[in-house]
Amino acid sequence: MVSQIQYTKPQVLRMLVDVRDPEIPVLSIEEIGMLRDVVIDENGCEVIITPTYTACPAMAMIEKDIKQTLADQGIDVVKVTTVFAPAWSTDWMSEDTKEKLRAYGIAAPLHSTCDAAKDKSSIVECPQCFSTKTTLISQFGSTACKALYRCEKCLEPFDYFKCH
Ligand SMILES: [Zn+2]
Repeated sequence: MVSQIQYTKPQVLRMLVDVRDPEIPVLSIEEIGMLRDVVIDENGCEVIITPTYTACPAMAMIEKDIKQTLADQGIDVVKVTTVFAPAWSTDWMSEDTKEKLRAYGIAAPLHSTCDAAKDKSSIVECPQCFSTKTTLISQFGSTACKALYRCEKCLEPFDYFKCH
């Protein structure tokens, strides 16, 4: 069988913009820093991803999404490889991405070395009113990746995307 590779890496990367983080649908897997690389050779297309949180149950769904999205574009030989090193860091998120997170109602991580949910002296800003008077309610928000906070000013609870 003669393989005919008729697509390029930039094209594949553009197609993958449609693959969203199921937990944060406003962000693509590239924006969140999950998409590490795309390798195209005579065997097909390999997509390399790093989980944003090792316990995230969404990985299987993301893998399926990647394959489906590329198959829809006529790329049907797709291998999805998950790599755990280097570990994903919130530093891989751009400022634009953090802003999108905030607009979605999730407090963006400050930087990778902090963990506000563990270090109670860290300041987490309310994504609604930008007040810094916030209280940690639970180490686990809607998913294990997030901690639940409440704003003391507008009294709204919100998710905080944990750094790690
Ligand atoms: Zn608030």
